[in-house]
Amino acid sequence: MNVILFGPPGAGKGTQAGAVCERHGLLQVATGDIFRKNLKEKTELGQLARSFMDKGQLVPDEVVWKLVEDRLAQPDTEAGVLFDGFPRTVTQAELLVGWAESSGRGLSAVVALEVPDDELVARLSGRRTCLSCGATYHVAHNPPSKDGVCDRCGNDVVQRDDDNEVTVRKRLATYHRQTAPVLEWFGERAVRVDGTGAIGAIGARVQAAIGS
Ligand code: ADP
Ligand code: AMP
Repeated sequence: MNVILFGPPGAGKGTQAGAVCERHGLLQVATGDIFRKNLKEKTELGQLARSFMDKGQLVPDEVVWKLVEDRLAQPDTEAGVLFDGFPRTVTQAELLVGWAESSGRGLSAVVALEVPDDELVARLSGRRTCLSCGATYHVAHNPPSKDGVCDRCGNDVVQRDDDNEVTVRKRLATYHRQTAPVLEWFGERAVRVDGTGAIGAIGARVQAAIGS
């Protein structure tokens, strides 16, 4: 079982991913988390990705696909993957669907979280992230139990460099220009889910969409 959790930045993909992965025994593959890990470890890939991330732009397709393809070649992905933040262009979607077909590993569901832009800006501006395990929080809506400490792994919870309002607006513009067309490309295969309201209620809608 392989699932795409689709949506604009701040839609709640990371927030919902944990429960979905636990329920279905999936491995979360979040391309943004992989880039941030590389950035932290000061790899060449991290430096390259940063030049795009800081500007609210997408990392080039060939770089992203090489990373995802290598990740999918590892045995821990065989039981199933939840894609978070990938695909973000029609080219990436074509590559993934091609892989799903040629490998026989398939694609079970495409679930798209829908949230209005104003709410996305409010969510991203107040987001706090654990750069060690990728867990996300919100200063008002979903704070960690202990201020600045990750509930999941105990490491520091910080504000991402690109979660400032100027870069957030650029990321949303990039989403509308390059990523929203992916949803049209999937057409009927994608199930659209209202991504507003309580986190638990959205989780139930995501669950229903995966089941259907
Ligand atoms: P994405 O992974 O899609 O970029 P996140 O899951 O990191 O988005 O969520 C973005 C921010 O919005 C985080 O601060 C998160 O705590 C908060 N958030 C997620 N879901 C909700 C919700 N239903 N209501 C309010 N805030 C939310
Ligand atoms: P995210 O953590 O999903 O918000 O991603 C952070 C940043 O990483 C994005 O703004 C992009 O610059 C880059 N990125 C993550 N995933 C992709 C992808 N699939 N394609 C291109 N760029 C990506």
